[in-house]
Amino acid sequence: MNGEFDLIARHFTRPVRQAVLGVGDDCALLAPRPGTHWAISTDMLVEGRHFLPSVAPQHLGHKALAVNLSDLAACGATPRAFTLALALPEVDDDWLSALARGLFELADAQGCELVGGDTTRGPLNLCITVMGEVPVIGGRSQALLRSGARPGDRLYVSGTLGDAALALDALTGRIALPEAMLSAARLRLEQPTPRVALGLALRGVASAALDISDGLLGDLRHVLQASGVGATVDADAATALIAASRSSTGPGVPLDSMFSVDQRRRWALAGGDDYELLFTAPPHADAAVAAAAAASATPVACIGCIDAEPGLRLQDGTACPIDGRFDGYDHFA
Ligand code: ADP
Ligand code: MG
Repeated sequence: MNGEFDLIARHFTRPVRQAVLGVGDDCALLAPRPGTHWAISTDMLVEGRHFLPSVAPQHLGHKALAVNLSDLAACGATPRAFTLALALPEVDDDWLSALARGLFELADAQGCELVGGDTTRGPLNLCITVMGEVPVIGGRSQALLRSGARPGDRLYVSGTLGDAALALDALTGRIALPEAMLSAARLRLEQPTPRVALGLALRGVASAALDISDGLLGDLRHVLQASGVGATVDADAATALIAASRSSTGPGVPLDSMFSVDQRRRWALAGGDDYELLFTAPPHADAAVAAAAAASATPVACIGCIDAEPGLRLQDGTACPIDGRFDGYDHFA
């Protein structure tokens, strides 16, 4: 059994920074700052389901933490600490040190500390639990929730949409992409950027928020359901957010002339693994939304509005209704 503890000591034990007690005892100890709530979330990555066996370990380490930080971002929480439960088919020190490098690079950039975990033999599986803080003001948590969207609010998304799904389709041989386009899209699939700074800047500005992991429209439905509202979405505005169709750099054919509009809409509206923020805010907050985007250096685009009428209405850029369902990913559907 010595191997397990050596492995933890070699790859996952570092001096504590903020925590009272980190890796090594039965529990980690964290001191909550006065006037805050803990925000806690868990995401598991299973080989073959959430990542391809071909992914570089450094990128896998990044992604495992990034998808968790994305949940903190969606709540407007400041990252503090995380735990890592790891199932490994075998011990490969080169592989593990690359995994740890990707993990700690992002952790250090976000001030989020590894304080514990579990290590066992089994099919490759990484499960991270992140802990963050949100301020409590006047007895009320400042966390951004899914339930606050109101009729008349604008609907926004951060960053880019659909590039991760585009890369997955190319890597699994469903489509062919020029090399430069694939490597850019692959970056979005394997090294998503958690929008932590934007989430923090949106506290007190956004009426509702979540992170898009299973496709824009499928995840939007969660906001609509939690808030008891409907929405109208401009499919063309969303589809224009595919980075691969906007990049004019480099030679080759643009994405828009390679694939049908229906195919591109499917990537933008239903493609998984975006890890962007979807949020709502009332029109009087237009300037505050722009300021939050600028302060966090994160692009933000308005792609629709919240309606009192339940349901989701898709239209094109000229306000003509679009048929066709673009639902998100459901592991058990
Ligand atoms: P226990 O037997 O009490 O469950 P373990 O023997 O599993 O504890 O782990 C020993 C210590 O190493 C604990 O502090 C645990 O949190 C930590 N640990 C185990 N695996 C990991 C990991 N993959 N990353 C970080 N810390 C870990
Ligand atoms: Mg114990």
